[in-house]
Amino acid sequence: MKDLIDKLFREKQLSRDEYISLIKDHSESDAEYLFSLAVKRRMEYYGKDVYVRGLIEFTNYCKNDCYYCGIRRSNRSVERYRLTKDDIMSCCEQGYELGFRTFVLQGGEDPYYTDYKICDLVSSIKNKYPDCAVTLSIGEKEHESYKAYFDAGADRYLLRHETADSGHYARLHPSEMFFDHRIKCLYDLKEIGYQVGCGFMVGSPYQTAENLADDLLFIKELQPQMVGIGPFISQHDTPFAQMNSGTMEQTLFMLGLIRLTLPPVLLPSTTALGTIHPLGREKGILAGANVVMPNLSPVSVRKKYLLYDNKICTGDEAAECKNCLQMRMRSIGYDVVVSRGDSKQT
Ligand code: SAH
Repeated sequence: MKDLIDKLFREKQLSRDEYISLIKDHSESDAEYLFSLAVKRRMEYYGKDVYVRGLIEFTNYCKNDCYYCGIRRSNRSVERYRLTKDDIMSCCEQGYELGFRTFVLQGGEDPYYTDYKICDLVSSIKNKYPDCAVTLSIGEKEHESYKAYFDAGADRYLLRHETADSGHYARLHPSEMFFDHRIKCLYDLKEIGYQVGCGFMVGSPYQTAENLADDLLFIKELQPQMVGIGPFISQHDTPFAQMNSGTMEQTLFMLGLIRLTLPPVLLPSTTALGTIHPLGREKGILAGANVVMPNLSPVSVRKKYLLYDNKICTGDEAAECKNCLQMRMRSIGYDVVVSRGDSKQT
């Protein structure tokens, strides 16, 4: 196994079978070895800097019905909310004062926010904070919508591909959602000129080692600037309520493999990882990640944006979230930095 990890470090790529055997058969000491090389690789590009992205969860209305997600349209137990433009601008203002230079607008796929409204939001934020990056994470749209947001000033777009296997995709989503369309979206976003983030859940229902290997091959092919992964965590009001959640160990292992496969990638240590283990986010950084995404949403709505159960940080003010993360990063010898934190990818 260590030979395979060395090979991945050297060549930044393995065959599908090699990835599968690493994912299936690694020992704890193989994982430690992988993390040491992943950290070494990350150090070459980013040192011990950890970038922060302020996450604004601006709507929990969603027209989709993904089987894993707590804010799916069929979940009648969710109290739905939308932030107004003023709410969102004041989140940014607060975030800016706290040193955030990237704002991530994330939400369900909510038709209330027409392209016109999204463009207006993006251009208002960019006009007020020209030194900041604006990231959108609002799901699948058509090319012309993505282009309009980009022209309004959006810099980045996060759209997890969820799985690179169309059969697996069909087991996670209802039949009105199409794998091919999701993948097309990612290529459209790249072509338009966005810095793009894809990603997937680790340990999602029916996922196999083969699926995870295909995720790595897909990432290698797409060459995104960012890859967001976290453990699947079951949510009690979804069809997957009884399914097992993903593990921290496997999520960390995948973080390490992604760092070695795509060395300059921006790799968040996610809230979901912090949810399944109290030190999950610290361990993510020590497995090769270099981004954290504290929540900037108003505390009044935090408990309504529950994609999965037991989500952390739902009661803290933005400043507390930022301080907490800063302390956590310092405790492992890392620094949270104030900058847009663009990818070092050329
Ligand atoms: N609606 C947007 C963004 C919001 S969902 C979109 O479709 O892109 C953001 C991510 O949360 C999803 O891509 C999914 O990978 C993750 N997620 C959803 N439900 C989850 C769960 N139960 N456990 C862990 N992650 C989940």
